[in-house]
Amino acid sequence: MVRRQIEARGVTDPYVLAAMLKVPRHLFVGDALRDQAYGDFPLPIGEQQTISQPYIVAEMTQALQPGKDDRILEIGTGSGYQAAILAEIVFRVYTIEKIYPLYIKTRKLFDKLQYHNIVTKYSDGTSGWKDESPFDGIIVTAGSPSIPTPLVRQLAVGGRLVIPVGDQYSQELIKLYKDENGIHKTNLGGCRFVKLVGEYGWRS
Ligand code: SAH
Repeated sequence: MVRRQIEARGVTDPYVLAAMLKVPRHLFVGDALRDQAYGDFPLPIGEQQTISQPYIVAEMTQALQPGKDDRILEIGTGSGYQAAILAEIVFRVYTIEKIYPLYIKTRKLFDKLQYHNIVTKYSDGTSGWKDESPFDGIIVTAGSPSIPTPLVRQLAVGGRLVIPVGDQYSQELIKLYKDENGIHKTNLGGCRFVKLVGEYGWRS
């Protein structure tokens, strides 16, 4: 998976590649899909949600430029796979999920796999996590019609935000970088995600 799908498409960050080699992706999907866990595609995780394609996880993680002392916020815990990849690299991961059965199931998985540096929350993540802000990086793993303003506010100076922005069928992966002069935006290309549903995302 790492060599053919991820390195071959240009992901080079050694910490990202090491994390992708280490985290057992098959433990983040249901039993019936275990033999497909390392395929080059997203998979259903219940509640009409999906675990992203391995390459997309790697690309978004690299775009976040994760460092070992970083505190990262993820919106859309889902299966927990993206949070686990980040937890291998950074100091602490804060992750928010708005569908209760996914939240509880994944919370238990983090405990079982002993990911002590992942903090979970059940709520609408489009408002961010003000009490724990500012964050060195924020990653949104669902597609939004626009960039939620609370997330931009909760980014530290020097922080990176990675988010799919577009309509419900296709989005562009947008990266924001905040420095003393303001916000710098780059477009990393097309992608396709499930909807970010909440106050600052899709209304339904
Ligand atoms: N990062 C996940 C991807 C899951 S799919 C993984 O690695 O598996 C996107 C997830 O975002 C879904 O679980 C969905 O319920 C969640 N989501 C959608 N809108 C949300 C919101 N406003 N706040 C928090 N989670 C949200």
